[in-house]
Amino acid sequence: MNSLLGSNPSYIWKSIWSSRGLLEKGCKWSVGSGSSINIWNDFWLPGYPQRKISSPTILGLSIVSNLIDPTSMQWNEVLITSSFSNEDVAAILSIRLPISPTSDSIYWVGELSCHYSVRSAYKLLCVRDEGNTNLSTLYRLVWKSACPSKIRILAWKFIWNYIPTMLNLVIKRVRQCPQCPRCNSQVEDSEHAGFRCGFNQEVWHKLGFYWPNQVNQMQFSEWLQWMFTKHTNYQHAKIITTIWAIWYARNKKVHEGVTQSTVEVVIFIKKYLSELRMSMASLTHHSVRENVRWIPPPATYTKVNVDASFLLSETKSITGIVIRDNEGEIIGAAYQINLNVANVFEAEALAVTQGLVFAEEIGCLDIILDGDSKSIISKLKNRNDDLSSIRLQIGTAKSIAGRFRNCRFSFTGRQGNQTAHAMARSGRSASEDRFWLEEAPSSVLTAAAEDRRLLDPP
Ligand SMILES: [Zn+2]
Repeated sequence: MNSLLGSNPSYIWKSIWSSRGLLEKGCKWSVGSGSSINIWNDFWLPGYPQRKISSPTILGLSIVSNLIDPTSMQWNEVLITSSFSNEDVAAILSIRLPISPTSDSIYWVGELSCHYSVRSAYKLLCVRDEGNTNLSTLYRLVWKSACPSKIRILAWKFIWNYIPTMLNLVIKRVRQCPQCPRCNSQVEDSEHAGFRCGFNQEVWHKLGFYWPNQVNQMQFSEWLQWMFTKHTNYQHAKIITTIWAIWYARNKKVHEGVTQSTVEVVIFIKKYLSELRMSMASLTHHSVRENVRWIPPPATYTKVNVDASFLLSETKSITGIVIRDNEGEIIGAAYQINLNVANVFEAEALAVTQGLVFAEEIGCLDIILDGDSKSIISKLKNRNDDLSSIRLQIGTAKSIAGRFRNCRFSFTGRQGNQTAHAMARSGRSASEDRFWLEEAPSSVLTAAAEDRRLLDPP
């Protein structure tokens, strides 16, 4: 996925959040290297309510990494004490810096009472253009098309022009020349990269897609809307897969110097779609086994791993959640802190419920939820009402599960649940809930990389 998203996979979310003013509604920076965080304008101080540095701006200090000693990787206390008010100094020094190099990340903060609800990426998009019902419909259709999430996400990025086209790179001052790397004759904006470039039009035509001249002048979102209204739901998956494949081939040319012909791109798309349909058809015969290692979900599904860490002495539990696509790429991750938890079973049941809610909120439709508590998973699979002490939690989890288009539960051994385990562990010393999109703490990323390494070679 990284190859498609460029060097910054969270670019899209950061863009949405900053543009929507959502940072004020509960998003915060977690300090890693400090190089992406603006000292004065970003929310990065701990505690409630959200607040920025209140001390007056000092020239020469701009990013948080300026405040970190590059050798010891600890706060430069002398500099900090001499630059900020006592209140800011205390807040900054209370932030624990990572021991190993970690990049900065954005997360949502939730109070223990969950006042900040996690909004789904999909809902965010609808809110973003709530006046425009056509666009909301388009988002819904993109989201519902039977494709892996990376393909749907790329289609969204095209719609919002969050694609690193040559023109966007010029605007971001990364490049100087906005010309299309394919035809070298026109500016590469998202319309050109999606459908206007001669090369891309040839691919579209070979796949049987045509549009009139006036449609060719449309903006990307209007063009896609036109394409969707002219074609069946079945074809929508083909349309956005084609956009993805065209962009993929373009990146191969730009970054690896590999030039494919239009015929090769067309063959790739057809093969990819037929494999996708086969894997979906086989799904109906697929029985969920007990897994000893992490098993990726089928192509259009997402896998939700949950685990609970129970602290008996504090009657407190921490839920760890990691949501991944069929290639093992992280879509979402979270830990949530629960107080007044009676026992380990209640903790495990809460983990399942919270995993389901998080998956629903980030817009997953077809999920497989993996947990390593055999008794909880078997209770969830049982069609009869549960009569145990945790019947309430089991009932809640079952009713949330019913809101997905597809939801299956499966038991996994510890080995298959390492990411969620690491997630719950990383929340042990935390005082607030945290949610990530397309990112996770480094211990979880390490576990996820290990899971990917163990996947069968393609
Ligand atoms: Zn071109």
